[in-house]
Amino acid sequence: MKILVAVKRVVDYHVRVLPKADGSDVDIEHLKMSMNPFDEIAVEEALRLKEKGVAEEVIVVSIGPAACQETIRTALAMGADRGIQVEVGQAVEPLDAARLLQAVAQRTGPGIILLGKQAIDDDANQTGQMLAALLGWPQGTFACAVEVTGETVRVVREIDGGTQTVELRLPAVITTDLRLNEPRYAKLPEIMKAKRKPLEVLDPATLGVEPRPRLEQLRVSEPPARKPGVVVEDVTELVDRLRNEARVI
Ligand code: AMP
Repeated sequence: MKILVAVKRVVDYHVRVLPKADGSDVDIEHLKMSMNPFDEIAVEEALRLKEKGVAEEVIVVSIGPAACQETIRTALAMGADRGIQVEVGQAVEPLDAARLLQAVAQRTGPGIILLGKQAIDDDANQTGQMLAALLGWPQGTFACAVEVTGETVRVVREIDGGTQTVELRLPAVITTDLRLNEPRYAKLPEIMKAKRKPLEVLDPATLGVEPRPRLEQLRVSEPPARKPGVVVEDVTELVDRLRNEARVI
């Protein structure tokens, strides 16, 4: 079985992103970019499934400009076998990402497609679900455990206040949650080896998809600044303030 993993290049999660002065967008020029953290977890899970003998090949795909190849190389250095970059100039919305991933899946024929539960730049949490719908495949979202047995995969899902275990018939789409695993670091020899692994570049037209924005971003803004804390004299004052000033008690 092949596993296809979608990896998105996003602003590194350690970096604080600020809006541009005119509020039209966030300013990401000159910021450190990295693989979306949930996608690193997806790559790790695919590699573990390969190590268990469940899969023979791990293919990573990223949609975006040439710089995405860096992200693909990171996944190759972790141990993925080959990469595909779908070359698009600007960011694509989740539906177009899903349509492009659908076309890549039809070309590569994976038994499992792993995605992050969400990309930390747009926080959409839509691509995996849309991809499953377009393919007509079952989906196991927010996975914190994945176990493949024969023609099925058991996915433990993180849900509010607990977990839910579902069994899906393969092929299936799985999206990763934070507790699924801890991604490995690429070792230097693997980083060197990754430079020689195959990386195919495809354009959307070849895949029969024409990305088309459907949303217009009107404004971005920072969250309101937090008010400074106050030191209370005693418990009576604390209770009084909680009763009279706190929004929710
Ligand atoms: P989203 O629906 O935008 O929150 O993204 C969910 C997941 O879809 C991400 O964690 C990635 O696995 C995948 N994805 C979304 N956009 C892209 C992209 N441009 N390239 C590769 N994978 C993507």
